[in-house]
Amino acid sequence: MFWSQAERFAFNELSVFSLRGETFLASPLSPLWAWLVGFLCSLLIGGAAYWKGSLTRSGWVAAVAVGTLLFALGNLVWFACLIAFFVSSSVLSKWKRYVKRQAEASYEKSGGRDAWQVAANGLPGTLLCVAHAIWPSPLWLVSFVGIMAAVNADTWATEIGGLSRFRPRSILSGKPVPTGTSGGVSLLGTAASVVGAGFIGVSAWICLYLSSGSATDATGMAQSSNLELLKVGVVLVLSAAIGGTIGAFVDSLLGATLQRMYRCTVCGSVVERQQHCGKPTEFVRGIRWMNNDAVNIISSLFGAVVALGIGLIYYQTTIF
Ligand SMILES: [Zn+2]
Repeated sequence: MFWSQAERFAFNELSVFSLRGETFLASPLSPLWAWLVGFLCSLLIGGAAYWKGSLTRSGWVAAVAVGTLLFALGNLVWFACLIAFFVSSSVLSKWKRYVKRQAEASYEKSGGRDAWQVAANGLPGTLLCVAHAIWPSPLWLVSFVGIMAAVNADTWATEIGGLSRFRPRSILSGKPVPTGTSGGVSLLGTAASVVGAGFIGVSAWICLYLSSGSATDATGMAQSSNLELLKVGVVLVLSAAIGGTIGAFVDSLLGATLQRMYRCTVCGSVVERQQHCGKPTEFVRGIRWMNNDAVNIISSLFGAVVALGIGLIYYQTTIF
């Protein structure tokens, strides 16, 4: 393998527990190392994102907190789901940014993620990780994968769907709406959300596989069979793909219905922002507290519930 001595030490501390015979990575590394490695990795990755303009300073601080907790209380798999979301969405948002500049003007926020956006994307998952540290069960991880898959699916759909040559259509009426409208969906965006959701599951699976390999090395005996890892991997990918896609669908639905929207008093477009064309906008519809961050949190929880359902089917039955 390609691990350095320090990483090998950290991964060797991984412990493993079993539910219905399936092996799952569980508790933290040796605590000091876990916190230290998690903090440094988060600091570096967040720092690169801050330097690239994908995070504001407050967003960087929030990202370091979320990343450190996921690594220390969870393990590499939890951390990897966050990083897979974070790095891929940062890269996508930079990609063809000139094409999307027009569309982004109507979003509530554009440019770097601030602390609120990082919290909206990271806090529900972090709470699951805390719960996992107190009452260990693989179902927490499956739910978490559903959350991150929903968040990632929504981001990929927005970034890639925004490049569609065809105008998006309202998820409610089916009528064409301007690119960047909340609740607008396109074929390209929908395909991107399915792939983006599955991407989180595949990332989790790869890290589970890598971590389990070093756990086996540490004890000198196989703690998990390849078949078990394969089955758990299929559960993770299915949970992510299905949970994440449904979460992104709920996101579009809320965006078209309950999300608060404003109308620009200058150009007349309906936007998420309280300012447009340099003037304050006027409230037109939605629930007052339902901003984009709230929509993200609620829809990602749908992703978690669906993923949990798939996890329960796996652990409570013998279908797989
Ligand atoms: Zn305007």
